[in-house]
Amino acid sequence: MKWRTHRALTRMVLRRLGLGGGVVEACLEGVVEPDRRIEYSLAITPRGRVRLVRKPHHSFWRASDAIHYIYKARQCFLKGRLDMAGYYLGQALHYIQDRCVEKPILADHGEVEAEAGELEIPGDAIERGIMDSISHPKRVEGLVWTMAGSTSPGRALWHAAYYTAWVAKAVFTISGVEEARRQLQGLNKWAKRLGLGLAILAPITLLACALGLMAAVMMLAILDAVILAIILYLLNEGMKLRRWFGI
Ligand SMILES: [Zn+2]
Repeated sequence: MKWRTHRALTRMVLRRLGLGGGVVEACLEGVVEPDRRIEYSLAITPRGRVRLVRKPHHSFWRASDAIHYIYKARQCFLKGRLDMAGYYLGQALHYIQDRCVEKPILADHGEVEAEAGELEIPGDAIERGIMDSISHPKRVEGLVWTMAGSTSPGRALWHAAYYTAWVAKAVFTISGVEEARRQLQGLNKWAKRLGLGLAILAPITLLACALGLMAAVMMLAILDAVILAIILYLLNEGMKLRRWFGI
């Protein structure tokens, strides 16, 4: 997406959210920052050679970069460092906005981007994004991983405005803290219960191993691994809640 479009979208959304001054300036800097960095990754060419290529901003995997910067923005916001929050949010928005522009099969990215840059930013998309926004880490991550783009310049711009508003509102909103605390307690409770189960099961697995009961060892080891994976998942979800809500 063109810098002009990145900035116009971002400026309009932040103004609509009632933000001004330093946050907006920082966010407008951040929203073009990923295009200033040149990042490389290894790729295999059709001939089977390994090459260093420039990482595209439009790929599906860039969702993880967007989420990384969203959390950074959120943490700065919680600490009251609004300018830094804006700067990181801008970087997240860059990847989000770029992903809205899908490459048509026969044309290239540039054409869709150029056409999208000529269109007026759809205000109704911003309103819808603000209305649908939910300030919760699970919802934010779900949105960013499943967001859809378009090969049509008008639709791509609509999506970009919608997702920009959704995410910006979520980052700059504090609500549902009590509910998040309850969710965290629930996660911790289950992690403890499963931890206890594992503490009982692990010695049994070792015993079965010592007795040479290989079929039982296999089954128990699989069970141990599954329980451990669930515990790690619960702890990770809990950590996200803590980071998002500062609890
Ligand atoms: Zn880009």
